[in-house]
Formats: sequence, structure tokens, C-alpha cells
Amino acid sequence: MLCKEKGRYSNERMALIALGEICKRQNLQVYPVRVYQCNVCKLWHLTSKAEYKTAQEKEFEKTSRQLVDEITRLENAVSTEKQNVEKLRSHIHMLQGHKAKREERSIKHSKLTVNNKEIEQLKIELQKANIKADMIKNEYYRLLKSIRKIVMV
Ligand SMILES: [Zn+2]
Repeated sequence: MLCKEKGRYSNERMALIALGEICKRQNLQVYPVRVYQCNVCKLWHLTSKAEYKTAQEKEFEKTSRQLVDEITRLENAVSTEKQNVEKLRSHIHMLQGHKAKREERSIKHSKLTVNNKEIEQLKIELQKANIKADMIKNEYYRLLKSIRKIVMV
């Protein structure tokens, strides 16, 4: 049955009220037994079909939920790593700016060396952050692949 041929309710409460009203009638051949939110129109309908899920369907739902949680966690981790990379980049940029200014004023060599060391260290940190972000990305794609496998079954 198409959505427009069924009763449509904007929320669960309205659908439940309608369910109660319809069940009071005495001349029906089929009585609705529950309400559900429609995947197509996103509104709520009544149905006479009892809810039935196989163990496989339940397992699938559980696995999907876990994968979605895992993806959310990884997406957050990726965005944190990206922020870290950006912070390090702008820090390096700033230090390089300082260094350039110091060179212009041709101040002591020793200070420049310290500055260079600091920049080198930051570059190493940036590399590490990039590697970590790549690792998280790979994990994320691996998960997406396993989700696709499950969905294709
Ligand atoms: Zn619908």
C-alpha cells in the first residue's frame, strides 16, 4: 500500500491516539496492532502486521549500530588530528616568520639555531600527526568496506 493510501500521522503520539480510536470501532475486518515510522514518507502509519524480526535481522541491526558508532568515533578522531596538524602548521609558519624577521635584523646566530631546532621538532610532530591521521583514515575506510560487505549480503 502506498503512503498516501494509509493514515499518516506527524508523530508517534498522534498515531497512537488514532490506533486507540480505530480499535474502538466494531465493524472492521482487520484491526491495526501497532504504529511505525515510515522509511519512505517519514510520517507515522498504523499496521495490522505484528513486528517480526529474524535473529539475523537483529544481529544485522546491532552490527550496523556498532559500526555507525565506530565511524562517528573515527570521524571525530580524524577531525581532531586535522586540527592538530593545522595548529602545528600555523605554529611552524609563525616561527618561520619570526626567524625571517630575526635574520633581517641579523641578530645573534645562537638564537637562530634554537629557533631552527624548534622548527625541526615541530616538523617531526607534524609528520607524526599526519601519519596518525592517515592511520585513522585507513581504519575508517576499512570499516566502510566491511559495512558495504554486510549491506551487500
Ligand atoms: Zn509512508
